[in-house]
Amino acid sequence: MLPVQRITLPADLRGVTPGELTPQLLRAVKPYGWLHHLAADAYHALRAQAFMDDVKPFKPTSAGDTYRSLAMQRAGFLARYQKQPIAGASTRTWNGEVWYLQKGYAPMAAPGSSNHNLGIAVDIWTASGKRLEWMLENCKRFGWSWEIQSEPWHIRYVAGDEVPPAVKRWKEANG
Ligand SMILES: [Zn+2]
Repeated sequence: MLPVQRITLPADLRGVTPGELTPQLLRAVKPYGWLHHLAADAYHALRAQAFMDDVKPFKPTSAGDTYRSLAMQRAGFLARYQKQPIAGASTRTWNGEVWYLQKGYAPMAAPGSSNHNLGIAVDIWTASGKRLEWMLENCKRFGWSWEIQSEPWHIRYVAGDEVPPAVKRWKEANG
């Protein structure tokens, strides 16, 4: 098991309401989606390294798998979870109520409680096989870590304002 690494939040995210980031905090990322500006640099640096190592494509699953506004997270959550109990289903608590994951859907955090709502998480497209092996080897030095072993595609930017040297180098060459 990978250890769960604590997230250090960038200073400009403290006190921000998840899912309500102002446009100044966000940057467009390639080939689609948005991230917090520090996470965007770290993601682009990681992606550039992936391309250099011939790990292609390296991208989010969809634009909704980068930053998610509260409305986006709510829509995704309501499409997957129901209040009607399902035996053995994975559950989430939202506004004090228990919700049950419908069969065939991947779990998702309750609105407002996801790192996606802070723009510091990306779901990488098909994080398995060779791509996952490469991620396990390289994510950490670019400031990325995993929350749980069961969601290998979901990586979070954990380095806060301490921009990792590998990201600084990328920024100097491309910034
Ligand atoms: Zn995710």
